[in-house]
Amino acid sequence: MDLYEYQGKQYFARFGIPISPGGVADTVDEAVAQADKAGYPVVVKAQVKVGGRGKAGGIQLADDADAVRRHAGNILGMDISGHTVHRLWIENASDIAREYYASFTLDRAAKLHLCMVSAKGGVEIEEVAATDPQAISRLHVDPVDGISLDAAAGLVAEAGIDEQARSQAAALLVKLYDCYVHGDCDLAEINPLILTTDGRVHALDAKVTLDDNAAYRHPEWDAFAGDEEMDEREKLAREKGLNYIGLSGSVGIIANGAGLAMSTLDVVTQVGGTAANFLDIGGGANADVMAAALDVINSDAAVRAIFVNIFGGITRVDEVANGVVEALRRVDIHSPIVLRLDGTNAEAGREILAAHLSDNLVMEPTMLAAARRAVALAGGGR
Ligand code: GDP
Ligand code: MN
Repeated sequence: MDLYEYQGKQYFARFGIPISPGGVADTVDEAVAQADKAGYPVVVKAQVKVGGRGKAGGIQLADDADAVRRHAGNILGMDISGHTVHRLWIENASDIAREYYASFTLDRAAKLHLCMVSAKGGVEIEEVAATDPQAISRLHVDPVDGISLDAAAGLVAEAGIDEQARSQAAALLVKLYDCYVHGDCDLAEINPLILTTDGRVHALDAKVTLDDNAAYRHPEWDAFAGDEEMDEREKLAREKGLNYIGLSGSVGIIANGAGLAMSTLDVVTQVGGTAANFLDIGGGANADVMAAALDVINSDAAVRAIFVNIFGGITRVDEVANGVVEALRRVDIHSPIVLRLDGTNAEAGREILAAHLSDNLVMEPTMLAAARRAVALAGGGR
């Protein structure tokens, strides 16, 4: 789960990482009240889970209540890369002397934690990595050893962080590691980490991704989940207990098993189509599950065709076929469906469906043929 900046900062604060005093606001009046509390000048910051808010006009400095009123009014409801702003974070503005970058994440290939520090902060780190890779200093951290203050200090010096900021930055890195490990983050990133004109180092932004697998030991995360910004389709899928991920293509996909679902995405792509989603209905694809899956895919206006790809193993294809027939009775489908049924009791399954075939419900003998058909019905392919 990704956190909003304000949640990430509150999380940081719990681990002693310095941030600017501030608070959240959902209305213009609340924004002014928070600004009065934080102390002027303030920064009015759009809370959306996407970077580049500054460039999009979602971050504004305000010297007084009138300016807060004006900026808050403009930013609330603003669209930033497809994300609507519903909430603001108002904090006491910092006088920035320098902008740095610091993060911890997992380097899966190395099987170690990775700490990255750069004196070139404030800009997209991907851009720095592409144009000036030397400007990012890296340190692998063994989870058994953790990061020592000495190691952090060495990295900070190597990255060319200004002399006067080094000891504070090193101490902050140790706290950030603590947050990353004990806070069960997949990513804990500060960009920019700043040095103020009066010599203080603190986090001006926060990008935190929590490791959902650790949710069981963090009841306090429930508060974050309530505020989660979720794709409408994914929300519906979660309510129905489906393993669904929304994508941006036109071919809706239903498969049994995560591996088969991924292969289905690959084959659709291979024949020139684009997948609208990943959806694994798992074993026991009965009518309820199939109807729920079709419901979710139906709710996606971009879908032009649906590819149902079932390979019966323990799940028997005749049962799946009955599920499909029953689901079609319950759900009013907007797009043509292409079926590929194979595996245990496939013959019986195909027979059950034979009577129901039409222009809008077709069957293909192989996965590749079915993918071609679905992509063609969606108006694409080659
Ligand atoms: P992002 O654009 O979504 O990454 O949002 P950030 O929180 O990183 O802010 C973007 C930029 O706004 C920063 O790099 C700063 O240059 C500027 N900014 C943010 N907060 C302050 C502040 O308190 N004072 C000043 N002077 N600039 C700020
Ligand atoms: Mn930033």
